[in-house]
Amino acid sequence: LSFIQNLPKAELHAHLNGCIPISILRQLAESYHPPSPSAPDISEIQNGLETLDNFNLDSIHEFFGAFRTIYALISTREALATATRTVLSQFLEGHPPECTYLELRTTPKHTSTLPLHEYLDAVLSEVERYPPDRAALILSLDRRMPIADRSVISVGKIIGEAIRLKNEGRRVVGIDLCGDPLAGDMTLLEPYIANAKAAGLRITLHIAETTQNPPKETLQLLAYGPHRLGHATFLDEEAKEKVIKEGMAIEICLSSNLICKTVPRLSAHHISYYLERNHPIAICTDDTLPFRNSLTAEYALLLAPPPIGLGLTEAQVERIAKNSLEVAFN
Ligand code: 5GP
Repeated sequence: LSFIQNLPKAELHAHLNGCIPISILRQLAESYHPPSPSAPDISEIQNGLETLDNFNLDSIHEFFGAFRTIYALISTREALATATRTVLSQFLEGHPPECTYLELRTTPKHTSTLPLHEYLDAVLSEVERYPPDRAALILSLDRRMPIADRSVISVGKIIGEAIRLKNEGRRVVGIDLCGDPLAGDMTLLEPYIANAKAAGLRITLHIAETTQNPPKETLQLLAYGPHRLGHATFLDEEAKEKVIKEGMAIEICLSSNLICKTVPRLSAHHISYYLERNHPIAICTDDTLPFRNSLTAEYALLLAPPPIGLGLTEAQVERIAKNSLEVAFN
């Protein structure tokens, strides 16, 4: 355990609102007031917390419904700041810390009590308490978002905000694409991703998370030239070839994939394909609340002998950890 704990490493794929401990959500629920008539009432919040505490995932789709409770609970600036501070400290404050560097990601939100610019400022202010070599932020686009309408939270709006914040010297380092893996028309993203790249932002995309993602869509996303890919579970040969050739690093979330049943067992995980080819990967947690994992535990899966783990050597694990720092966006 101390070998893993003392290994310098980066956590590059952690969703802010998927990583808030249940104890903090329960604490936030005590002072919760529905921010609007359509927001969940107290009893829905209590039910949501029970679901989150006793998570029983049957497929990746059920997972997305659970975020409604969390979003309601972080709908004031104070609650969001508390949640963000807790998540940052969960990764960065241990002795030794879970990771040397954390690239946290979040999908910008807007409620009647928390306008978009306040959401971003609240999260960034917490991230920026740490030096740049310890923490940074990625803004996520949700696949369900409208594309161009700047009067609502849309792809165009978020990219615009990310560029503005970066130009102001705030700690936004990249753009992500996440959310329901089957939603949205991904052919429309090209000019927005190009703008983000031109402004010096780095790109990571959740890609091919399910068997239903059409190969054509996957190739389209790869054509945008992302620097890293999230999950990349169901890439076909053509896509894999492109990923290897262009050196796009893969963010590997072992427990997430097993629990969401997109990978049947560890020995069948696509990590092996990339390990065999010495391709850059980063081991990540994804969402520590539903998956009840930690970065240390994910690394332990690399070292543990099969069938519990992958049975890698310490030298291999050391190389993987080094990889994660090398493919960071800071
Ligand atoms: P947030 O961005 O609100 O801070 O974090 C939670 C959001 O991240 C969820 O609404 C969900 O859309 C997204 N998310 C979390 N885990 C995954 C995942 O494994 N795959 C995809 N596609 N999206 C995810």
